[in-house]
Amino acid sequence: MDDRFGILERLASGVVVGDGGYLLELEHRGYVQAGPYTPEVVLEHPDAVRQLHREFRQAGSEVLQALTFYAADDKLQPRWGSRMTDEVNRAAVRLAREVACPDALVSGTVTQTTTYVPGDPASDRRAGVSFARQLDAQCDEGVDFVIAETFRYLGEARLALAAIVERGVPAMITLNVGPRGTGDGVDGPECARTLAGEGAAIVGVNCNWDPDMSLRVAAAMRAAVPAGAYVACQPVGFRTADPARPFTALEEFPLSLERLQLTRFDLARFAREAADAGIGYIGGCCGVGAYHVRAMAEALGRHPPASEKSPDLSRHVLPDVQARALPPPEPATLCGRIDESAVQVP
Ligand SMILES: [Zn+2]
Repeated sequence: MDDRFGILERLASGVVVGDGGYLLELEHRGYVQAGPYTPEVVLEHPDAVRQLHREFRQAGSEVLQALTFYAADDKLQPRWGSRMTDEVNRAAVRLAREVACPDALVSGTVTQTTTYVPGDPASDRRAGVSFARQLDAQCDEGVDFVIAETFRYLGEARLALAAIVERGVPAMITLNVGPRGTGDGVDGPECARTLAGEGAAIVGVNCNWDPDMSLRVAAAMRAAVPAGAYVACQPVGFRTADPARPFTALEEFPLSLERLQLTRFDLARFAREAADAGIGYIGGCCGVGAYHVRAMAEALGRHPPASEKSPDLSRHVLPDVQARALPPPEPATLCGRIDESAVQVP
């Protein structure tokens, strides 16, 4: 881990392209079970995890997230026993590091627990112990920074942030927050101010909402934090048209989400709009695959290795397909589609 080219130095010199979603993609491929969505795949089928890391890297991801989402006692212990938590966290970091070397960064990951209750000191202690256990294993293996993601409650995100700061690595905290704020009643900008004030180098949003709604909240966060703080936006790759319904509330979740799948052009537009809005860390979450990441990277002016195989429909055998060599016309803005009355941001 070279401090000169760490996450903060990269952000200071331009947009950082993140990766996409792991668990849903590995479920599609037959390596993760829908329902629990726990990441024991890092021990059972390490090659499957390496391969997906490789695909994101090839597509232009500058950061590979260790697959440690839900790698906590509350999710793993009931089925696998306590020892599994350390093994999964360590193995996940090692796999990401194998693929990331020498150029990409590796982030550790922690996420919301299943037992957090806002305002309950016992719940705070439980969450703190859980984060500490995961972070100790991940940091011992060597991560470049830590992403604490998919929090529905600001209170729990603050606990994760404190645990990361205590270990002296840069913290990126992204909330699972849509236009209507967190489960504990805080809007995105206030979350961003609070987390940046408590030491998060990067704040933002991830999961649950499509690029339009996620970017709307992330842009409001950008306006709320000092210039020296960075903002991340990692939306799902599915359309969520109703500001009151995240993708987990849709009837298609989780087994028929393909009906709502966004295209590579949607994600490319998102990347351009996000960069224009001052978002420093641009990636994806559930439903964002390697081809989406390549489209985002290219939209940001990058030429990752996978660009060698970017489409050239002018070479297609059918003339009517050749005529589609150019992408369809873009709407003026993605965000213009949102019902303004439903959005609670300053
Ligand atoms: Zn997600």
